[in-house]
Amino acid sequence: MATRNRRLGFVVVLVALFAVLFIVNRRMKLAPEPADLILVNGKIVTVDAKFPTAAWIAVRGGRIDALGTDPKGFNRHVGDGTEIVDLGGALAIPGLIESHGHFMGLGESKTILDLTKARSWDDIVALVAEAAKSAKPGEWITGRGWHQDKWDHAPEPNVEGLPFHDALSKVTPQNPVLLEHASGHSSLANAKAMELSKITATTGDPDGGKIIRDAKGNAIGAFLETAQSLVRYEAGHATPDEAAAQSRKLVELASKECLTHGITTFHDAGTSFGTVDLYKKMAEEGALPVRLYVMLSPDSRTLASRGAAARMIGAVDNHLTVRTIKRLMDGALGSHGAWLLEPYADLSPDDKNLTGLNTESIEEMKATAKFAIENGFQLATHAIGDRGNRETLDIYEEAFKAHPDKTDLRWRIEHAQHLSLADIPRFAQLGVIPAMQAIHCTSDAPWVLKRLGEKRAAEGAYVWRKLMDAGSIIPIGTDVPVELIDPMANFYAAVTRKLKDGTTFFPDQKMTREEALRAYTANGAFAAFEEGLKGSLTPGKLADITVLSRDILTCPEDDIPGTEVLYTIIGGKVLYRH
Ligand SMILES: [Zn+2]
Repeated sequence: MATRNRRLGFVVVLVALFAVLFIVNRRMKLAPEPADLILVNGKIVTVDAKFPTAAWIAVRGGRIDALGTDPKGFNRHVGDGTEIVDLGGALAIPGLIESHGHFMGLGESKTILDLTKARSWDDIVALVAEAAKSAKPGEWITGRGWHQDKWDHAPEPNVEGLPFHDALSKVTPQNPVLLEHASGHSSLANAKAMELSKITATTGDPDGGKIIRDAKGNAIGAFLETAQSLVRYEAGHATPDEAAAQSRKLVELASKECLTHGITTFHDAGTSFGTVDLYKKMAEEGALPVRLYVMLSPDSRTLASRGAAARMIGAVDNHLTVRTIKRLMDGALGSHGAWLLEPYADLSPDDKNLTGLNTESIEEMKATAKFAIENGFQLATHAIGDRGNRETLDIYEEAFKAHPDKTDLRWRIEHAQHLSLADIPRFAQLGVIPAMQAIHCTSDAPWVLKRLGEKRAAEGAYVWRKLMDAGSIIPIGTDVPVELIDPMANFYAAVTRKLKDGTTFFPDQKMTREEALRAYTANGAFAAFEEGLKGSLTPGKLADITVLSRDILTCPEDDIPGTEVLYTIIGGKVLYRH
């Protein structure tokens, strides 16, 4: 009996042990690790096909842990240290990806004269005169953001709508002045700046640039494209330490602007090695909150010596990736710098740059393409005019054909603004990404017809719909500081193509709201090979989340521009709260 009892007892213990193990196991499955942060009571749009919307989202270890539609379902993720944020019905979307901007330029735009609101050349002269009052003799006065087509009236006298320097020089006899166009593709200088830069009537036009001159051949103070670099801007006598401190300040200012505007990843379109070193240092110190996707801009020779070593992916906890090279094939349409197949409609036939400017030699482009494809770099080329785009596509195609073993290259054309009908399908056929800026369309629209004429504008200007129909994936950005970084203004431009005067620019090319959201999130991630990490609110991906005050997918169209960013969350940390 004793033996039987003992045996029975053993079986009971064994069964009990299995039962406990089973329950513990089940409990472990039922009660997940507590979340660091949970967003509740919101409309969460995941941009992930499997989870279109959710009511709450839990974040753990910097990644998205879980989402749910049951309003109380988040409770099992709550632990002692969990922060719970009540969204109060607000919209949470994947962190916005600014897919083409200039990070240091954004920082700098916060430190120099803002000329974006000037309504005339007289306004600008007055702004500079005011700045000159507090400037020390010899100190440079710099500004950015003017646009002659946004002025109420043309300056008199003018050449191609651009002012003579005289009025500016009169109010700044002691200070050199350099004022950059909104596009960054032209600049205005005063007499002092030209004197210091030794610019005279005999100074020739550099390749890919133009000095605007009066009838006698004297420079009027306006410099286009590469000619801008003739005006040498010396930032006083800053010591290396002062210069370094200034650069850090620009990174801090740019980061703050991104966070305030819900931008969690920023594609920095044209960067030096020195700036990459600064980004890396600041990231390692925890002083770079925004994730940067960097495009290197040094020439092919410099790249050949230093480029391969600079390549990095997901460095410093996915804050810094350098795997792209940036090139500039042409200029901008506004300054007649975009390289066109046919002459500008608004230039006189004897203008020597009747079809715009080619700002990078084809040989240099080809050398860069070769370096990029052989060293695992993506190539991103600025091309605005239809000729600039065609030449770039031709160079890409040639490089791809020479390396049939290399696939999924995702080379990009930045702007892809004005395209020949024949080239539109080539983007998808070649797997080339048109990285576009919706806000450029509505900003430029007032003068696009002047530059191109109705027929060419209708066929190929900002043709998002045609590109998408042909199979292209379009990421969108703002090209900040060319435009403001404001994603709501950009989103509004994408879905309305509506100008300030209420008219719409070829509305058949609009994006739907879903497409525009995808363009600002998933497509930006794709354009950076980061779809496994970003672009949707999917468990396992980085917890980069933007929360907006209104549901921009359903609210009245005119409410989109006033929508505010309530929270910007990067890696599960709330880095901005409205
Ligand atoms: Zn740009």
